[in-house]
Amino acid sequence: MTEKRDYYEVLGVSRNASDGDIRKAFRSLARKFHPDKNPDDSDAEKKFKEVQEAYAILSNPEEKRKYDMFGHNGPGGSPFGPGGFQGVNISLDDLFGGGFDGIFNQFFGSSRRRSTKGDDLIYRHTVPFQVAMDGSEEEIEIEALRNCKDCDGSGSKDPKNVKSCPACDGRGRVERLERLGPFTQRSVSECPSCGGMGKIISDPCDSCRGQGRSQQSKRVKFTIPPGITSGVRLRMRGYGGASRTENGLPGDLYIEIEVQRHPWFERDSSDLLMGLPVGFSDLVIGSKIELPHIDGKSLTVKIDAGSEPGDTIEIKGRGLPIQGSSRRGSVMVVLKLDMPKKLTREQKKKISSMADLLGSDTEGIEDRIRREASRRRG
Ligand SMILES: [Zn+2]
Ligand SMILES: [Zn+2]
Repeated sequence: MTEKRDYYEVLGVSRNASDGDIRKAFRSLARKFHPDKNPDDSDAEKKFKEVQEAYAILSNPEEKRKYDMFGHNGPGGSPFGPGGFQGVNISLDDLFGGGFDGIFNQFFGSSRRRSTKGDDLIYRHTVPFQVAMDGSEEEIEIEALRNCKDCDGSGSKDPKNVKSCPACDGRGRVERLERLGPFTQRSVSECPSCGGMGKIISDPCDSCRGQGRSQQSKRVKFTIPPGITSGVRLRMRGYGGASRTENGLPGDLYIEIEVQRHPWFERDSSDLLMGLPVGFSDLVIGSKIELPHIDGKSLTVKIDAGSEPGDTIEIKGRGLPIQGSSRRGSVMVVLKLDMPKKLTREQKKKISSMADLLGSDTEGIEDRIRREASRRRG
């Protein structure tokens, strides 16, 4: 057996030749030794194959690195499998386009079996506002394409009867070169022989009719962390649809959380905002108001005497949990003056007498306006 020639030598390029140089050298040699140009010339045929093999390796970055390191005696034997390199049917026309690269790269997918990932799914899940405070353990039921239980995903009554599809070599996809005017385009499509499954089943499983997969409902448990906001998507890796190829990874499940509104709180990340309608007397003489709160303890809002409508009271540490921290945001209480809408004659009389009592008339109206203006302007 003759010693295998160095790939760089085969293509006649130096070891530090660029990708472009390698491609150029391959094209010109492949044209020179192409079987169409050299009918019945076994020597040219051998050279054509040799050039193809060298290019298959040197045009694939990963294989090239391995070759540069180990030469022909790399670990794991021939990168083309036990049969060695078999050659590729490239038409002379293809050699003028660039699309042939893909054919060569396909060789190296076979051992890892390039797989098609299953579908990603999105599921919208609504939770009460309280969950933003406490977090929760949730359980939902989703419908997704899953491996058939009866045949364990093989699609066959007897898993031993499954044969790898010869048309696509079990990959489920075929690569084709298409000529579009002066261009050669590489297109990857589902293998028509096996419908993308990569295998041929002679006695299909009854439950899934040979698909290996069927729509099944599944319970999914997940944890919602405290402090969650609406619109956040939790990713459950591998909980999506099953892949159509046997060794393919399943897709992912995204659970988009919708947090219901609180009856009175608005949210500003971990802060809770609320308006608190209080009476005139609460503002004038001050007051303490107790409210039920989402953390289970009552919330005391302390209104200082002399407060004004629009004043904000911050209660620190009683807002929502801040994600990734043990702290909590604040509750921001904006004071609103709760104006009585309809007064009885009796009430009007009392308020009028109270105005006299407060003596708001002792200061002239212009003085009052001036005082307001200077406070507003700081
Ligand atoms: Zn089945
Ligand atoms: Zn196939």
